[in-house]
Amino acid sequence: MEKIKMTTPLVEMDGDEMTRVLWGWIKETLILPFVELKTEYYDLGLLHRNETKDQVTVDAANATKRLGVAVKCATITPNQQRMEEYPQLTEMWKSPNGTIRSILDGTVFRTPICIDAVKPVVKNWKKPITIARHAYGDVYKAVDLETSEPGTAVLTFTGVSGETKALTVQTVDGPAVWQGAHNKESSIRSFARACFQYAVDTKQNLWFATKDTIAKVYDGAFKRIFEEEFVPYKARFAELGITYFYTLIDDAVARVIRSEGGYIWACKNYDGDVMSDMVSTAFGSLAMMTSVLVSPDGTTEFEAAHGTVTRHYYKYLKGEETSTNPMATLFAWSGALKKRGQLDGLADLTHFGALLEQAALDTLNAGIMTKDLVGLVEPDFPATAVTTREFLDAIAQRLQASLA
Ligand code: NAP
Ligand code: MG
Repeated sequence: MEKIKMTTPLVEMDGDEMTRVLWGWIKETLILPFVELKTEYYDLGLLHRNETKDQVTVDAANATKRLGVAVKCATITPNQQRMEEYPQLTEMWKSPNGTIRSILDGTVFRTPICIDAVKPVVKNWKKPITIARHAYGDVYKAVDLETSEPGTAVLTFTGVSGETKALTVQTVDGPAVWQGAHNKESSIRSFARACFQYAVDTKQNLWFATKDTIAKVYDGAFKRIFEEEFVPYKARFAELGITYFYTLIDDAVARVIRSEGGYIWACKNYDGDVMSDMVSTAFGSLAMMTSVLVSPDGTTEFEAAHGTVTRHYYKYLKGEETSTNPMATLFAWSGALKKRGQLDGLADLTHFGALLEQAALDTLNAGIMTKDLVGLVEPDFPATAVTTREFLDAIAQRLQASLA
């Protein structure tokens, strides 16, 4: 069988621990036998980030801007414990995802991979719900203050022109806590554009909600900026038969629970933090959650939502077989190949990405699955737990058959 050709390379960002092992196996078993893979390879493994003083992360992000599509493996974000585990680290390097997100000015979209045998906890959810979380500002960049006597707090802004604006926050009669939060118009605008663009790309309705009845100026700005950014997208939305729907956050939560799913839910930073954990848990498992970073110009990076699965890695190092779920990492690869195929007009490549996903879903639907899923399936579903390698081989067999 002739291998499928590519024209533009994918940006490939390798990572750490068990996911790095999965990365190699997925390529070896499911991609390289079928595709003449072209990638620009960046090793974002912790030690290589350290050797390059994290320049490799910046280079990978810039390559993504240049080439348009990237696929990323999960990476370690070092903390104190990791500093002890890897004594050669010269610095507690920042989260690569944070670095890439800020260079690409991107928004993260998280979508569950759904199968019939794992029913969402919310029984009327029939289709995946994608959460888009604004990743800048609000309480995550706020300053906090605690005071112990009666008094008054004033919010003052000093412009570069020297002009000032001041507002009394509150006068209190005793000890109090205070918080100063902000967001930037440019960031909200990028967020809105990324959401509208992703809705068009995936042909799904877009929901957005804030509390603008209470935070009239702050959340009101979010609502207004989304309305403004929607204007150039209106015609395209109508053509595709999709809608933009704005409501209050409490109303949105109630509607989400009653809905069938099948839309993108854009959330302010805090709402996205909280709601993405609720939605992903209700859909099943972090190992079945994909994550896509989209910048306002359409640049896209695909990855799994989970981490490097450290506990499984230590078993692997001891020579034990693990049953680590490769679905989210596999879907990052298939998503990137499909996107590359669309951009380069390579129907074969796009079709291959779709067949790869179907082969993986068919394998699960046949009851062949990793341990984490066996614990989640409906009671009468005949499921067998297999090792990661056995699972990948079972997918490869189906893929081969569907390509033949
Ligand atoms: P994690 O790697 O997502 O794993 C947490 C637990 O979830 C695992 O121990 C495992 O449970 C289960 N799990 C997650 N993915 C799985 C999969 N594919 N198959 C089977 N089970 C899976 O999170 P963590 O342990 O908090 O973080 C580990 C490292 O990952 C950290 O160094 C962190 O910095 C990094 N991280 C990276 C990213 C990223 O690059 N996007 C995201 C999050 C975390 P059991 O052990 O019970 O089987
Ligand atoms: Mg959270």
